[in-house]
Amino acid sequence: MLLRHTKPEIKERQVLTINPAKTCQPIGAMYASLGIHNCLPHSHGSQGCCAYHRSTLTRHYKEQVLSGTSSFTEGAAVFGGQSNLVQAIDNIFTVYNPDIIAVHTTCLSETIGDDIPQIIGKAKEEGKIPPGKIVIHTNTPSYAGSHVTGFSNMVASMVSYLSEPGEKRASRANIIPGWVDPADIREIKRLLDMMDIDNIMFPDTSGVLDTPLTGKQEYFPAGGTTIQALRATGKSKITIALGPTSSLAAARLLDTKCKVPYEILDLPIGLEATDAFVDTLRRNFHTDVPDEINGERGRLLNMISNMHQYTYNKRVALWGDPDQLVALTQFLVLLNMKPVYIVTGTPGNNFTDRINTVLKGTVPEVKVLQGQGADMYKMHQWIKQEGVDLLIGNTYGKYIARDENTPFIRAGFPILDRVGHQYFPIVGYKGAMRLCEMILNAFLDKKDRECPEESFELVM
Ligand code: SF4
Repeated sequence: MLLRHTKPEIKERQVLTINPAKTCQPIGAMYASLGIHNCLPHSHGSQGCCAYHRSTLTRHYKEQVLSGTSSFTEGAAVFGGQSNLVQAIDNIFTVYNPDIIAVHTTCLSETIGDDIPQIIGKAKEEGKIPPGKIVIHTNTPSYAGSHVTGFSNMVASMVSYLSEPGEKRASRANIIPGWVDPADIREIKRLLDMMDIDNIMFPDTSGVLDTPLTGKQEYFPAGGTTIQALRATGKSKITIALGPTSSLAAARLLDTKCKVPYEILDLPIGLEATDAFVDTLRRNFHTDVPDEINGERGRLLNMISNMHQYTYNKRVALWGDPDQLVALTQFLVLLNMKPVYIVTGTPGNNFTDRINTVLKGTVPEVKVLQGQGADMYKMHQWIKQEGVDLLIGNTYGKYIARDENTPFIRAGFPILDRVGHQYFPIVGYKGAMRLCEMILNAFLDKKDRECPEESFELVM
């Protein structure tokens, strides 16, 4: 089995990455594009890339994911993909009639050096973009960055192409939710509604990748941020960007382009990060926190104190995307757990500093890996040298969990082998309660499976 032969002895590697803790840039761009209402993502490259990106999203969300592709063959690889993209834009508007096409590139079209704005201009000149329809793009070379970089790039492109400045400011927040699942976006919107705060959420994949089964086939589900709302982001009072790795670029651009100030927060995963989110809303909109939200917070505190005896001093290995890892680490520290191994394949500034800030010196033995060479194999080697009590991360950790017989809870992207993440949030106080439930049940399930009969208890 994959990883069964992982050796505990570590040999330094310079150029080899084994099971990287990240995936392709275009997947993130495709996911962000799906958060625009009536949008068809378009992959400018070969069919194989597009099929991989679509299938990864479909396997995670258990929903159909539509995307066009420029279907590069040898000719496009040699002469460039201009004619393929112009033809694709024509076909897509003629056959599928979306409001907007969001083009992202792939390794191949980036290596050729296709100039996408020039090609979009040519399509416009030739009348392939019908009046009122829009084509936007972002560059997503997958030999740099990760799926999170691609997500961030496409969200920034939404601002660059669509946000319009204006004199009048609406008493409204732009919320850039970062790379979270549709259920998390619903939960963030629920908190905003409870605080009665008008908002534009972008991108918004709720209602797109968690649609009800109606018996009707629809190319474009009801959800997603409308183009009108994206244009209006330039006239909002403030932008609240959740997760610097995935949301800061768009928030900064909106400030530069339309003078909308921004606050950057961690993803609201866990008690403290949710407190920061709720407090930022309260401060900026001069509102009180409703009793209902305070009640949810109190119930989370109660749950944390009840389960403390099971979480205290437990060692945890976690991997995934920087923004999730920082917020999860902060929450684990609050639970008096010890996040000892933390791995992300996504490059970017300040990750180790951010992790050290939330650890507050509580785990001096922590090992953090980021970027090129940050892989699951190395993390497994660390675990072989000194084990952990819990694994938290995407599906790829199941091999380590099986090999080491370690409890494993799935969080992050992608989750290919379980359900629930698309419907039940991990953000907000309710999401934190769900995380607590998953952690506690993982420990108790293992105990029930393995304890001697005389210790097999009916009650906790
Ligand atoms: S790494 Fe590049 S070539 Fe491979 S699937 Fe991703 S975009 Fe395509």
